Amino acid sequence: EKKVVASSAKDLSPSYDWFQTDSLITIVIYTKQKDMNAELVIVDCQDKRLRGEIIIDDHSYLVEVVNIAEKVGKVEIVLNKKDNIHWKMLGQPLEGHNTFIKRTDRGLFYRKCKLVSKTEVTHDTKLFCLMLPKGTLLHVPTGQHVYLKQIIAGTEVVKPYTPVLPSLPLDFQESPHQDGVHIYLMIKIYSHGLFTQALDHLQIGDYISVSNPEGNFKKSQVQTSEDLLLLAGGTGFTPMVKLLNFALTEVSCLRTVKLIFFNKTEDDILWRNQLEQLALKDERFEVQFILSQPSEDWVGKQGKISSSLLSEFVKRSRRDSKALICICGPTPFTEQGVQYLKDLGYSQEEIHAFTA
Ligand code: FAD
Ligand code: NAD
Repeated sequence: EKKVVASSAKDLSPSYDWFQTDSLITIVIYTKQKDMNAELVIVDCQDKRLRGEIIIDDHSYLVEVVNIAEKVGKVEIVLNKKDNIHWKMLGQPLEGHNTFIKRTDRGLFYRKCKLVSKTEVTHDTKLFCLMLPKGTLLHVPTGQHVYLKQIIAGTEVVKPYTPVLPSLPLDFQESPHQDGVHIYLMIKIYSHGLFTQALDHLQIGDYISVSNPEGNFKKSQVQTSEDLLLLAGGTGFTPMVKLLNFALTEVSCLRTVKLIFFNKTEDDILWRNQLEQLALKDERFEVQFILSQPSEDWVGKQGKISSSLLSEFVKRSRRDSKALICICGPTPFTEQGVQYLKDLGYSQEEIHAFTA
């Protein structure tokens, strides 16, 4: 039986080949997968070093060589030759070259990205726009986060952040620009925060290391739902941005999409104006703001996440409709929320909690 397992694992392992013309090098990767798409391919080409990673379920296939002179499951990486000379080999294989291992065993890979803009969102939250280097091809999938790395006082510090879009899908054109070059991050700057203080001190044109994406959210969970309910607390709103965009622009089976957005005060609400506009523009979408420390003139809902608030706002559009509830915020918020949802009769499969 062991033999059978070993040979089938080998059969599943991708392979690669390469060929050339006078001006191009083409590396072909046979993934043996039917559902390939751009989000599953990450390529970095810098300092004569090529790293191509293909994500296949929970596995990762890597092509990694050095010294290079700059949907049937076939991935092609095409490189322009610097000089039109014949290559005798693709390059010296590096440590991870031609390996197919568990994604979690691969380790994070970082590339330096340039800070190109910093825009205020609220009194303490900013939208950072980072630019990927020229030799990098990377798309952060909906529901996934990246890690940022900085050296602070001589020590490497790493924190996770969830890329957003430059805006919500308000235009009547297609979804907001995802050009594969820029990564947008909405980040709250904490006055005593180690990492966010250092981030806030970055100047336009400075560089910061950004990792490959990570996370276990599956878009297919949305594609089979009729009601999508999003519970966000503070910057827990960030994973909801791409999710909202995907749901409203690409999922036709959804009947209702509702965001229940918990914040401390009115001033803390992220993209309030855009959310209200989106609710006006798309009749499937509804937003509810709930404040835990409102000022006296707040006429809306107030309180912290509770069973009674959730029973009031989390509802199926029909008695038997298929629902997906996504929740993200401070850890106690998320943990309590999941428990209340279970108490209200929602199953584990209907709930997705965003965590590290
Ligand atoms: P620290 O030095 O760790 O903390 C300093 C002080 O800041 C604390 O004493 C506290 O007062 C305050 N503080 C710090 N962290 C928190 C917290 N988590 N909740 C409440 N108060 C806190 N943040 C974003 O702004 N945008 C994102 O898109 C985002 N995505 C994330 C994705 C994942 C998967 C996870 C796990 C976290 C995400 N975070 C996000 C939070 C982020 O990773 C950091 O925890 C945050 O930026 C604080 O880092 P810091 O070093 O500045 O604060
Ligand atoms: P915040 O302090 O502004 O609070 C946001 C809301 O959560 C408020 O309504 C507040 O009342 C409520 N809240 C805070 N603490 C609570 C508690 N103990 N119990 C119940 N409700 C509580 O939040 P923030 O500073 O914007 O922090 C957002 C949090 O979201 C951070 O902890 C961050 O790490 C997390 N986050 C996680 C992910 C992820 O895991 N994928 C992504 C983004 C943000």
